[in-house]
Amino acid sequence: MSEINKLANYIMAEIDGEPSQSEGAGTCAIRIIKQLRTKLAEANERIKTACKQIADNHVEYQADLTAKNKELESLNIMVSNQSEMDKLMLAKDKRREELEGALEKAGSMLRHIDCPQCDGSGGFYDNNGNACQCQWCFEKSVIEQALNPKDNQCQ
Ligand SMILES: [Zn+2]
Repeated sequence: MSEINKLANYIMAEIDGEPSQSEGAGTCAIRIIKQLRTKLAEANERIKTACKQIADNHVEYQADLTAKNKELESLNIMVSNQSEMDKLMLAKDKRREELEGALEKAGSMLRHIDCPQCDGSGGFYDNNGNACQCQWCFEKSVIEQALNPKDNQCQ
């Protein structure tokens, strides 16, 4: 069998729709090869475009991811600052309670201490018979008023 007959048999047996024109096996083969090369070139173009699109999308995605990560990082910092702040506020509240308790205790102890300078009336006479204000009782009343600001009773 000649080479051209082999080609003609191959085209008829293997290539759907061919031969589609009245032409020799060689011309038909060349036409088919040209068509296939055109299709191949088109397919390569589409692949190139798709690859570029994928690369562009990837760049965009990376930029978006970086921005999101930054945002997340600053949110984490805010959350951690807030939790530090909460801890400080709790410590401050606890300290205030401790101090208020200590002050209350000091105030109630103070109320039970007798004045070392006078009989507790707030005044006394000195050796020359002059009336004097008792400094200790005065300071005690200042402290008691500071501890109970709403207590306007005079000593
Ligand atoms: Zn006194």
